[in-house]
Amino acid sequence: KVLDRGATAVAHPNIALIKYWGKRDERLVIPYVDSLSMTLNIFPTVTTVRLVPEGQADTVMLDGTSASGEQRQRVIAFLDLVREMAGRTEPAAVDTRNSVPTAAGLASSASGFAALAVAGAAAYGLALDPTALSRLARRGSASAARSIFGAFAICYAGRGVGAAADLSSYAEPVPVAKFDPALVIAMVNAGPKPVSSRAAMRRTVGTSPLYRSWALSSKADLSDMQAALQRGDLEAVGEIAERNALGMHATMLAARPAVRYLSPATVAVLDSVLQLRRDGFAAYATMDAGPNVKVLCHQADAARVADTVHGAAAGCSVVTARRGPGARLLIGAEQ
Ligand code: ATP
Repeated sequence: KVLDRGATAVAHPNIALIKYWGKRDERLVIPYVDSLSMTLNIFPTVTTVRLVPEGQADTVMLDGTSASGEQRQRVIAFLDLVREMAGRTEPAAVDTRNSVPTAAGLASSASGFAALAVAGAAAYGLALDPTALSRLARRGSASAARSIFGAFAICYAGRGVGAAADLSSYAEPVPVAKFDPALVIAMVNAGPKPVSSRAAMRRTVGTSPLYRSWALSSKADLSDMQAALQRGDLEAVGEIAERNALGMHATMLAARPAVRYLSPATVAVLDSVLQLRRDGFAAYATMDAGPNVKVLCHQADAARVADTVHGAAAGCSVVTARRGPGARLLIGAEQ
C-alpha cells in the first residue's frame, strides 16, 4: 500500500554569471567562492516525493527510468538528510523529470535538487523558510541553492567550518529592478559530459595552479557584477560574466590532467559572439561544465543572436531564455 502523503515541486535551472567552481567541504557541499546567477524561465524539473510504508526501499525514477549508481545514491543521500532533519524514517518514492538534457552542463543538478528540496521538505512535513530551503538544496548541489529563487540570486560560500559553514552558505535573491536580458543557449552537444562537475571540481581544486588566483579574481568580479546589475548595464554584466567563465575554464585547462569541456563547436560559437560584438551587438558568452554556450544579450537582439550562433555550429540547437521563477510547490502534502 502506498501512503497518500506526497508533494510535487517545480524548479528551473540557473546559469551562473559569476561561477561556482570548487568545494572547500565536500561532505557539506560548501563552495570556495560566492556565485551569482540568473534562474531561467525554461527547462523546468518536476519532482514528486511520496512516502511509502516502512520496510520498503527508496525508489528513484529519473526521466521515466529507474535511476542507478551515483545518480540514485545522490538522491537517497539527500532523502536521508531530509529524514534526519524531520526526525522521520519512512522510505520514499521519488519521480523526477528534467526537461533539459541531464548532466550536459545545462544545470540539471540545480533544478533537480531545488525541486527535490521543496518536494522532499513538504512530503516529510518540514516547514522551512526560503533560506533554509536554499541551504538544504545546497547539500544536493551547490548550484541548486540558487534555483530556490527566481531571477538573480547570490550564493554565499559561507564562513568557518562545519556547522558554522553550513549555516552561512545559502543563496538569497538579488533585487534588480529593471534588468531583463535574453540568454540564448546554443546546445552544441546535449550528451552527458565526460567528467562530472563534481570530479572536475575536485581535480581543479587539487591540482590546478591557476585555481587560487581565479578564486581571488572572482571576488572582484562579483562586486563589479553587483554594481553592473544595479545599473542595468548589460555590456558590463556581459563582460564580467564572460571573463569570469573563461577564467574558470582556464583553471580546468591547467588541472592535471586537464579538464577540457570546450569543443571545436564551442569555439566556433565563441567566435560568432565576438563577430556579433564587432557588428555592434551587445552579446557575451558564458560556459559551464560542458560544451554548450549561453549568450547574454538584449531581448530585442535575441533573434539575431540566435540566428548567428546557430549558423556558427552545424547542427546545434538554439533556445532563448529569460529570467524565470523560483522553485515552488505544485501539490502540497497533507500531513
Ligand atoms: P552543470 O555542470 O551545469 O551543473 P549538470 O547539472 O547537468 O550541469 P552535474 O553537476 O554533473 O551536471 O549534475 C548532473 C547530475 O545531477 C546527474 O548525473 C544526477 O546525478 C543529478 N541530477 C540531475 N537531474 C536530477 C534530478 N531531476 N533529480 C535528482 N538528481 C538529478
